[in-house]
Amino acid sequence: MPVISTPDSTTPESFDVLLIGAGIIGLSLARELSSTGMRVALIERHRAGSGASRAAAGMLAVSGFPSSSPLVPLALASGELYPEFVRQLEAETGMQCGYRQIGTFASQAAIERHGGDPAAHEPMPPLAEPELRSAGAWYSLPADHCLNPRLLCEMLLASLRRRGVSVVENCAAAAIEPRPQGGFTVTAAPQSYIADQVIVTSGAWSSRLAGVFLPVIPCKGQIHALEAPPDLLRHVLLGPDVYLVPQSQGRILAGSTMEYTGYDDRTDPETLARLRRSAVALLPALDSARTLETWAGLRPDTSDHLPLLGEAGQPGLWAATGHYRDGILLAPITARLLSSLVRGLRPEFDLAPFAPARFAPALTAGRLGGNG
Ligand SMILES: Cc1cc2nc3c(=O)[nH]c(=O)nc-3n(C[C@H](O)[C@H](O)[C@H](O)COP(=O)(O)OP(=O)(O)OC[C@H]3O[C@@H](n4cnc5c(N)ncnc54)[C@H](O)[C@@H]3O)c2cc1C
Repeated sequence: MPVISTPDSTTPESFDVLLIGAGIIGLSLARELSSTGMRVALIERHRAGSGASRAAAGMLAVSGFPSSSPLVPLALASGELYPEFVRQLEAETGMQCGYRQIGTFASQAAIERHGGDPAAHEPMPPLAEPELRSAGAWYSLPADHCLNPRLLCEMLLASLRRRGVSVVENCAAAAIEPRPQGGFTVTAAPQSYIADQVIVTSGAWSSRLAGVFLPVIPCKGQIHALEAPPDLLRHVLLGPDVYLVPQSQGRILAGSTMEYTGYDDRTDPETLARLRRSAVALLPALDSARTLETWAGLRPDTSDHLPLLGEAGQPGLWAATGHYRDGILLAPITARLLSSLVRGLRPEFDLAPFAPARFAPALTAGRLGGNG
């Protein structure tokens, strides 16, 4: 059993595995590890699910990668894991996360922007989206579904609570230090922890922890949520300069932007107005739609846009971060892969392209000094 300390105690709590950051990645991985019988704790500086995972549109775009990307096998595998992942969570918690296998239609420009080949896809059937107004060709991506990431985070948190996983909110980690006798001390406020293994799941803030080098860069995205008549939109649409996600009856998300402005997560009225104009250009019926909500979030990006999955500088210290635009999609497979690594098992995919060590030479040469 973990040693429980009171805030004024000098004995830190002790766990088999400690995860730092309760976004979709930390929550999914903590749940996967809890199934192995390990004593798992997850610490979160604010509230669970309050980072990028709260800001995400919730597309599960398994088709959204160039065929040469090393992420393709992981994306496909994660898309296949999703139905069972959601089914189990629903059964365990009695909650829902708006998972809908509705498919996506993409404009030619959107497919080409993601490095895809339009000719590899079937054309969108006529009148599949009767209200869509757009010149140019559109294609069908039937495997690309969607869900509500905020509800998924709530479900995962409820699952962890039921399983007795220690989730400590309002607890900010500052540093990770190896202990002479093995394992790590994680210095955090208001209290510190000891763990045999530590996993950094801190999203865009992963570069800010002392004791580990993870060159993650924040990439801001803004979203404009609009009220719409029910059934105005039946599928996700990837337009030339905006995507539209029918999140629930009467709510359509219009996103997003890609802004490298550090840790500034404020919205900008001009940008939100532009997103709205682009949405109305595709669906003129949105012209008088009421704004329901606007927000911005910080994606965890890296200089090669690939995640950091694997050992982070020393045995027992791991990274599961840098998921950029795809963390919601990649959460189930990330949980599986990191769970294997932590237990000393061979992961089911080659993780060499995602090894945090790929950035180590750049550190030595001082080329990544400005990141994060
Ligand atoms: C506008 C937008 C739209 C997106 N749309 C999609 C989409 O449609 N589909 C998709 O797959 N992905 C999408 N993404 C990307 C996706 O949101 C991210 O890849 C994913 O949420 C990353 O999850 P995470 O758990 O790594 O990070 P986060 O959700 O940011 O979680 C990290 C957590 O760590 C905590 N933390 C940080 N530092 C510390 C510390 N020192 N101590 C304790 N806790 C700490 C933070 O508070 C935060 O809660 C979108 C992102 C944005 C911004």
